[in-house]
Amino acid sequence: MALIVQKYGGTSVANIQRIRNVAERVAKFKMLGHQVVVVLSAMSGETNRLIALAREIQAEPDPRELDMLVSTGEQVTIALLAMALKDLGLKARSYTGSQVRILTDNAFTKARILQIDENRIREDLDAGRVVVVAGFQGVDENGNITTLGRGGSDTTGVALAAALKADECQIYTDVDGVYTTDPRIVPQARRLDTITFEEMLEMASLGSKVLQIRSVEFAGKYKVKLRVLSSFEEEGDGTLITFEEEDKSMEQAIISGIAFNRDEAKITVLGVPDTPGVAYQILGPVADANIDVDMIIQNTGANQTTDFTFTVNRNEYNRTMTLLEELKVKIGAREIIGDTSIAKVSIIGVGMRSHVGIASTMFKTLAAENINIRMISTSEIKISVVIDEKYLELAVRVLHKAFDLENGKTGAKFD
Ligand code: ASP
Ligand code: MG
Repeated sequence: MALIVQKYGGTSVANIQRIRNVAERVAKFKMLGHQVVVVLSAMSGETNRLIALAREIQAEPDPRELDMLVSTGEQVTIALLAMALKDLGLKARSYTGSQVRILTDNAFTKARILQIDENRIREDLDAGRVVVVAGFQGVDENGNITTLGRGGSDTTGVALAAALKADECQIYTDVDGVYTTDPRIVPQARRLDTITFEEMLEMASLGSKVLQIRSVEFAGKYKVKLRVLSSFEEEGDGTLITFEEEDKSMEQAIISGIAFNRDEAKITVLGVPDTPGVAYQILGPVADANIDVDMIIQNTGANQTTDFTFTVNRNEYNRTMTLLEELKVKIGAREIIGDTSIAKVSIIGVGMRSHVGIASTMFKTLAAENINIRMISTSEIKISVVIDEKYLELAVRVLHKAFDLENGKTGAKFD
């Protein structure tokens, strides 16, 4: 007998028939003798619908009230699933986040889980019940309902699995696992049987939207066995997210995947004096305005001046430009220019640690297609480049081919 946490996303509970299908899948695991905790998202589109309603009243909805509102989406699906389970003759009970007591901080709309009281769930499991928990929501110490940020049900699932020391956390979604890249761009993209936590973290932060990044961090920290599977297929093991030290397979590819994102914009501050403190003068106020900066490059220019380029989320582009225009005189900049039609493409793989020439292969491949690289950043296990957005799909396709990701045999060659 195992204790399994299963999280189902919005498309898996989008209508009554699909909720019945989820109930049947849960029943199958129950029949095998397992204990099952189910975490649900709202029906697909529901959270967006609720946010849109709020925005009809307030352009920037009050965060406390917004959480009160959007948390209702999950309350609908948990109740319906509990009914569907009972209809199949199973014992089941649904709980909101505050009923379980998923205690969070009070950062409305992006709260962090502080503590989970798992006793009640355990009692239910011991009594033979399936426990159905609302994803995405918690409660602060004053009893206010909070939510965990978009995609937060993944994190609820993983956090419950950690608290209950579950044998496995299964994330059911509308794709059957984690792919080498987005199959809509590269039809030959291949499902990975395994991916390491570190790679998955990079994939999630660099634009692959399969899992909320916080859920991956959580799983890594508490060593939760995490698997991504399709809720629309009967069979299949999906993608297991592994710890590197466990993954001793010789077939380990050098590059596991290609992530990309179109959400960034590039800003260049030209001709600032090349003196100590200039980076702080520019980026200090940006950070104070709560704007996240991603890539940064500084180039020494002529006459003791320097050019400073960085990227921010496209949503924050206008705000950042306004802020810098106001600072322009103070920081002594000649000009501030921006570009919103850029994209970032990243290759990811733990195998990079022990192989040379990965970056040069990447640059050569892009050069052969005449794709200009505007910025580069690297870490131990990823290389990211910023290019013009219009070349994004081409870049992803040629890189997928260059690293032979469709065959997944890059790791078999020891050169
Ligand atoms: N329903 C929430 C959202 O759409 C949480 C989730 O589905 O994970 O973001
Ligand atoms: Mg999701």
